[in-house]
Amino acid sequence: MNHERSRDLYDRALSVMPGGVNSSVRATQPYPFFVDSGDGAHVIDADGNRYVDYVMGYGPLLYGHDLPEPVQSAIQSHASAGPMYGAPTEVEVELAEFVARHVPSVEMVRFVNSGTEATVSAVRLARGYTERNKIVVMQGGYHGAQESTLVAGDADNPSPSTAGIPHSFAEHTLPVPFNDSEAIRTVFEDHGDDIAAVLVEPILGNKGIVTPVDGYHETLRELCNDYGSLLVFDEVITGFRVGGLQCAQGKFGVTPDLTTFGKIVGGGFPVGAIGGKSNIIEHFTPSGDVFQSGTFSGHPVTMAAGLATLEYAAEHDVYDHINSLAEQLRSGLTDILADRAPEYTVVGTDSMFKTIFTRDGATERGEQCGAGCRQDPNCPNFESCPKTGADVANAETDRWERLFWQEMKDRGVFLTANQFESQFVSYAHTEEDIEKTLEAYAEAL
Ligand code: PMP
Repeated sequence: MNHERSRDLYDRALSVMPGGVNSSVRATQPYPFFVDSGDGAHVIDADGNRYVDYVMGYGPLLYGHDLPEPVQSAIQSHASAGPMYGAPTEVEVELAEFVARHVPSVEMVRFVNSGTEATVSAVRLARGYTERNKIVVMQGGYHGAQESTLVAGDADNPSPSTAGIPHSFAEHTLPVPFNDSEAIRTVFEDHGDDIAAVLVEPILGNKGIVTPVDGYHETLRELCNDYGSLLVFDEVITGFRVGGLQCAQGKFGVTPDLTTFGKIVGGGFPVGAIGGKSNIIEHFTPSGDVFQSGTFSGHPVTMAAGLATLEYAAEHDVYDHINSLAEQLRSGLTDILADRAPEYTVVGTDSMFKTIFTRDGATERGEQCGAGCRQDPNCPNFESCPKTGADVANAETDRWERLFWQEMKDRGVFLTANQFESQFVSYAHTEEDIEKTLEAYAEAL
């Protein structure tokens, strides 16, 4: 493959943007390919090379790069009417009504412009509502680039996970291992009266993919009820993907107090949202006293794209189609790993998938889980499936980025560039794409 133009663009980018990119994960080595356009489930780079795309914008693109006609016309008619106004519009009411109608825990929604903004606002709301300071997060969880959640360590010794965050901020955050009911019980026993909220991705998608063991989310719900803390599901990835229009909370049958959304709910445009029961959401200004505001919030083009995206999914077999293609991919990968790399693991559910380069546990068994980990205790691989972010972090990251990701890219398959972030099948992928992808995996492995 020729990458001359991408290399030139990267040289120029390095002079004017830190690391040459506007989001850290895009800076693949030795240089990223620059995308010229999308086509169905494919992207075409600046040198004309074509890749089957499983990054899908890191999650927002349910339909791949060719939007269904009603979504395209909704976007175009709102863009041509004038981009935005600083006054409310009908379409944001319609999208809020749609979300409230389908997502079990949601009665009211505040729209913002990114997943990060949604979690920042949710944390402020939880603190304002409960008049408490502490936030529990999962080790290996990710809630965007924000001060309250970029915290590593454990509940006894939390510390900022990046430069630029004062230790005194990190002290209010209590990281616990995902799927460990005992650990969070202890944290509640020690700090329960100070805990404003537990913030959890229903499925770890950024140190993932890790699905919840039976009863874990129920335990979180129960502890939050007992101590008067809010349960916040961060459904920025899982929202309108896992569990379809009911989201992961519908799939798992656990109702959080607040939900953060992003990605799919904006149909490919910048978006975030905080949803929940009215008596909590109404604490946001102007109805309440927790300040929240934004010039671009509820942007009409984004709202129109999101609404048309979700309405199309409500009227077509979108989720069934995507999930069954993803199942085909996971099961093909399982066979390939059994043959070529039995120490690795296939994980995922619905339209999310990943291969994890873990050696622990699975090596001894020499077998792979057949259908992506569902954390079924009766599964022969239950023990060896990752249960926490730390299990996933044991993966061989060096091999992934330096070798495997490059090998797949050279074979025309675009995967997420780090070992830990989810990959997505879209409505635009075809059986032919899946076959080509499996061939590439088999060769690269
Ligand atoms: N929460 C989760 C679970 C995410 O995966 C992400 C981003 N991938 C965010 C929050 C932050 O969203 P954004 O990048 O739109 O700010």
